[in-house]
Amino acid sequence: YHVRSAPVATAEGERPVFMLVFRDVSEGRRIDRMRSDFVANASHELRTPLASLRGYIETLQGPAKNDTKAQERFLPIMLDQATRMSRLVDDLMSLSRLEVRAHLPPDQTVSLGPLLEHVRDSLLPLAGDLDVSIELHLPQEPVDVIGDHDELVEVFENLIENACKYGAEGKVVDVWLKPVAPRGAEVSVVDHGPGIPAEHVPRLTERFYRVSVADSRSKKGTGLGLAIVKHILTRHRARLIVKSEVGKGTTFTVRF
Ligand code: ADP
Repeated sequence: YHVRSAPVATAEGERPVFMLVFRDVSEGRRIDRMRSDFVANASHELRTPLASLRGYIETLQGPAKNDTKAQERFLPIMLDQATRMSRLVDDLMSLSRLEVRAHLPPDQTVSLGPLLEHVRDSLLPLAGDLDVSIELHLPQEPVDVIGDHDELVEVFENLIENACKYGAEGKVVDVWLKPVAPRGAEVSVVDHGPGIPAEHVPRLTERFYRVSVADSRSKKGTGLGLAIVKHILTRHRARLIVKSEVGKGTTFTVRF
């Protein structure tokens, strides 16, 4: 609490009276702490690939100057590190753009069927690399919601990409679109992969949260994807529902 005292006007000769004002600042403190944790995390995530890039550059300038074998080995790794940093910076920018727009409600009419087809098509190369097929199940009638087209593309790209990356063992990712009376809609992204242990589920949308060290080593990602999804959905007054069973798979449902 912040405490302030202020004198209260009293008649002459009376004993002075003071008013104490207690202001609860814990929410502000919490946000400040989150912000500084965020900056620390982001800096750490950028510092790791940067340090590694510097190491490689120094080696290529020094001991491996004329070693073409070393150059062939190091350059793809360096490109990978640079790509990882670009991805991180893109995600950080998405988050900060979203924070700026958080109070503006989206106002476009978005047709979810064509949007999901577009997202599926854009993910075909990734799905092909991972040997996963994305199956889209659309209803006969068009399903429209009020939203921001590009932001919703980002939401479903994230969810379907995650299903391909982390649920890939199932080989099929099913995407269902269903209208919900009277003017709502539901999109479910279902994978048949390893699932997520229950204790991790509530924390998935935290910034930089990744379920396992193995994921962060072997799967490309920043840990910011679901944080971005959550931000966008909050702005759309839509809910993200996660159901997962270890050994069976995971379903991420967006309910508008
Ligand atoms: P990123 O994919 O960049 O790591 P996300 O915020 O999108 O970050 O996801 C956070 C973590 O949640 C992932 O690192 C992964 O461990 C876990 N995860 C997300 N989707 C799935 C899924 N469909 N199946 C299993 N784990 C998942």
